[in-house]
Amino acid sequence: MTIKVAINGYGTIGKRVADAVSLQDDMEICGVTKRRPTYEAKMAVKSGFPFYAAEKEFVSGFEAEKIPVQGTLKDLLQEADIVIDCTPKKSGYKAIYENAGKKAIFQGGEKHDLTGMSFNAMANYEQAIGADYVRVVSCNTTGLCRTLYPLDSTFGIENVTAVMIRRGADPWDSKSGPINAIEPVLKVPSHHGPDVQSVMPDLNIQTTAVKVPTTIMHLHSVVARLKGEVTTEDVIEKWDKTPRVRFVCAKHGIKSTAQIMELAKDLGKKRSDLFEIAIWRDGVHVVDNVLYYYQAIHQEADVVPENIDAIRAMCNLEKDKMKSIKKTDEAMGIC
Ligand code: NAD
Repeated sequence: MTIKVAINGYGTIGKRVADAVSLQDDMEICGVTKRRPTYEAKMAVKSGFPFYAAEKEFVSGFEAEKIPVQGTLKDLLQEADIVIDCTPKKSGYKAIYENAGKKAIFQGGEKHDLTGMSFNAMANYEQAIGADYVRVVSCNTTGLCRTLYPLDSTFGIENVTAVMIRRGADPWDSKSGPINAIEPVLKVPSHHGPDVQSVMPDLNIQTTAVKVPTTIMHLHSVVARLKGEVTTEDVIEKWDKTPRVRFVCAKHGIKSTAQIMELAKDLGKKRSDLFEIAIWRDGVHVVDNVLYYYQAIHQEADVVPENIDAIRAMCNLEKDKMKSIKKTDEAMGIC
């Protein structure tokens, strides 16, 4: 059975999810939507995706640019088994999906309450099986769940304190900032800790966050008190066997997020996307049962494979999370 997937919002996340769906053999893109006749709209058509205007009022804009439009989102929903909402946060499309009787996946800009189910493939795949509405958590929350869940389920975690050092904007974004400033989030915890708890409700985690003038990645500095006797080697061995986690080493020339992105370019992935969470292997230390580590998040990429697993769970294509993760990763070339 091939699941028909609609993408509402062919932007930063939407175009990546569309490409990832196209690489799977159990799902296909039945159409994508946009609002404005940008180069991305032309790219979607060139990629062979059936193209729809998000609303009727945008059709003329596409026609003026000779971008062929098959209809509007409402028409597209008739074709779809499931819609991936990749629109900006609070765009408010849920009622439209509900009225069309379609399952929907939302992204991390939305609040947990919108769906009541926040998703990370390793941590809670089973809860999404057969679900109608799921939220794939944000890039930062995905990063924290990816590395903390395997430790919590193997060794147990007493508590976590993590500092999110966040990119000011995506690389394409020339209107956001900060441009030359460092902006702390003055509320404690930052929203990231409670967001991790929407996936791992029993994890005792506190987070703070700082926005910095870089565009290429987020960086997390994480301190976790583990339960019982655990060594640095135990932690490294666990992550070594964890999907979607990749070690990098300063002694091999990767000292900063700049070199991680250079590595991603050298790996030859489309858009230089790094779908894995990068952990500095030589920055992992356990001292008196307290684990210290640094990880880097490619914000535009890490959530993409999670969307694919969420589709599989919600559409009852696969009940075993490890089988779904393996299938997704093999198709996407994730090591
Ligand atoms: P984007 O601005 O790059 O793309 C959004 C797309 O939605 C555009 O193609 C636009 O045409 C379309 N759209 C539909 N309805 C719209 C509306 N009412 N207003 C404006 N545009 C509308 O956004 P994005 O960065 O892909 O973010 C989408 C979602 O993914 C958000 O929830 C965001 O928080 C989340 N997310 C973003 C990133 C990231 O780094 N960009 C990472 C993880 C999660």
